[in-house]
Amino acid sequence: MHKSGDVIRQLVDIGETPNSCWHWLGSVSKTTGYGKKQLNGKTLLAHRWVYEMLLGPIPGGLVIDHKCKTRHCVNPHHLEVVDQAENCRRSVTTKLTAEQVIEIKAAKDGKKWGEGARLARKYGVSSALIHDIWNGRAWK
Ligand SMILES: [Zn+2]
Repeated sequence: MHKSGDVIRQLVDIGETPNSCWHWLGSVSKTTGYGKKQLNGKTLLAHRWVYEMLLGPIPGGLVIDHKCKTRHCVNPHHLEVVDQAENCRRSVTTKLTAEQVIEIKAAKDGKKWGEGARLARKYGVSSALIHDIWNGRAWK
């Protein structure tokens, strides 16, 4: 255990307090924002690698959600193992800001045909979510 802790410390800036984000010092994917770790010719996600080194294997099919929303953070205390469906649900509701939801709700009055799809493209969410917001099923 001591050994893996030393390996991790060289790759991570653990911040000033125990609750700080652990900033990954290795390479970070430009497209996803996640830290990357090369191991035995494979590219691993840095937060998954650190989590498994410190806390043990992540069960198959489960993904790791960043509670702190800092994608290159690898602090295991900021990570939570969730299933894929839960992770999608969370990212949908965190993708929009309160201001955007207000704009979407405002667009409901006098909306034209195709307005839902247009807003979905504008905000990068599904048109089903736009309709859920209009119908009060999401973001009440
Ligand atoms: Zn964090």
